[in-house]
Amino acid sequence: MALVPLEEARDGILAAVPTLPVVDTPIADAVGLVLAVEVVTDEPVPPFANTAMDGYAVRAADTVGASDASPVRLRVVGELPAGRAPTTPVGPGEAIRIMTGAPVPDGADAIVMVERTQRDGDDGVLVEAEVTEGLHVRLPGGDLQAGQVVFAAGTVLGAAHVGVLASVGARTVPIHRRARVGVLSTGDELVEEGALTPGQIRDSNRPMLLALARAAGVEAIDLGLARDNEELIVEVLEDAFTRCDAVITSGGVSVGDYDYVKAALDRFGSLEWRQVAIKPAKPLAFGIVRGVPVFGLPGNPVSSLVSFELFARPALLSMMGYREPRRLEVVARAAHAFTRRPDGKVHLDRVEVTWDGEGYVAASTGAQESNVLSATAAANGLALLPDGDGAAEGDPIAVMLLR
Ligand code: AMP
Ligand code: MG
Repeated sequence: MALVPLEEARDGILAAVPTLPVVDTPIADAVGLVLAVEVVTDEPVPPFANTAMDGYAVRAADTVGASDASPVRLRVVGELPAGRAPTTPVGPGEAIRIMTGAPVPDGADAIVMVERTQRDGDDGVLVEAEVTEGLHVRLPGGDLQAGQVVFAAGTVLGAAHVGVLASVGARTVPIHRRARVGVLSTGDELVEEGALTPGQIRDSNRPMLLALARAAGVEAIDLGLARDNEELIVEVLEDAFTRCDAVITSGGVSVGDYDYVKAALDRFGSLEWRQVAIKPAKPLAFGIVRGVPVFGLPGNPVSSLVSFELFARPALLSMMGYREPRRLEVVARAAHAFTRRPDGKVHLDRVEVTWDGEGYVAASTGAQESNVLSATAAANGLALLPDGDGAAEGDPIAVMLLR
């Protein structure tokens, strides 16, 4: 079977997956999700002129010439804590004691910070600095003006976005729904708990893939552990297609004799069984069944993880409306030689990326066999080593960051 180039496989999947419907969601639940429309504010932020400092609201003209040596005395005609509307204006020769966030009263055009003043008797304040018009006054609309586009459609919402949305009075926002992905492990050799009998290993892929999905902001549904039994797998998938937006299976996609997953998935038709030009994670099944993208990932745990990162994660994010669903790729210096032989594949070595003050440096995290998951746990990146002889120490290499 011809090997499919990595980029072709990635692009093909992204082009094939559907976008999930738009739902109104409370802003606090929308972190990690994508705005479906642009948000325009009909309120200015801040809504009124207010003070950025604790101090005195004054007329700047009254402070001309004020200094430590010759302070200007103003008459204090009121006090304004945040949250109270002003009732008295500031007239010539007058000041109003004011707290951060309180509205600037009529007549006043500047704030003297409290540190540059001294109380003088019951009704006076000595101003020890000259202030210019507008000093420490936050103007209405200084952050956002009424009618302004706050966020464009396609914005991925973070915590600060939620704060901004709250500041303009938005309670809910239309976002693309969070994807629900079902995760199924397959294999007669796998056990979930208890003592191992000869020939058995523990199911590590399912907890890992569920965790990877959740870390990506996707809702993950545990579809359990299926025996190598075609009818059983078909039954689990039938149910999964009714309640999942995407399905991930692991195991049974290589060219062994016991490919029950393949047989089961093929009963639903339209799946492509591919060999991608990468190492690890060469085998990959992908297709859309009843509108639901299905990813048949390889069983070896490292391959499962790499395949999730390269193919499933971007697809799930794209379904949720992400316009840039891929992980960031950076250029790092090889901390040591990365040796490999030409084999027509891109090698994805697990590396730890650090910053040495001048740039990123990438070092292998250990054994690179596809069954050695422990070395992958230490990795925060996947080096993308193109076909060839590898890289020498100090060479620039591309690394996909995993977090
Ligand atoms: P398969 O693709 O089913 O032939 O599996 C390839 C290798 O991955 C075999 O060594 C399996 O035992 C192992 N494997 C498959 N599924 C899992 C899993 N869920 N957890 C850990 N290892 C697995
Ligand atoms: Mg298997």
